[in-house]
Amino acid sequence: MPKVTVNEDCTGCEVCVSTCPVVVFEIQGDRAEPINEKDCIACLLCTTECPVNAITVEED
Ligand code: SF4
Ligand code: SF4
Repeated sequence: MPKVTVNEDCTGCEVCVSTCPVVVFEIQGDRAEPINEKDCIACLLCTTECPVNAITVEED
């Protein structure tokens, strides 16, 4: 299972929420949280679309 992390640079813009094809992210407070990491297919769309490069996806 890929490891998905969001760092403190996240602004809560929600781009990753709407970009991820398997709905890994949810906004909690003012940041995105990878609440559904188990479904991640490591497509890396979130990492390229995040405007502040706050997301890291580490493949197994
Ligand atoms: S796209 Fe980036 S900045 Fe926007 S909510 Fe997701 S992690 Fe945060
Ligand atoms: S790599 Fe793809 S499937 Fe995984 S969290 Fe990012 S957008 Fe979603």
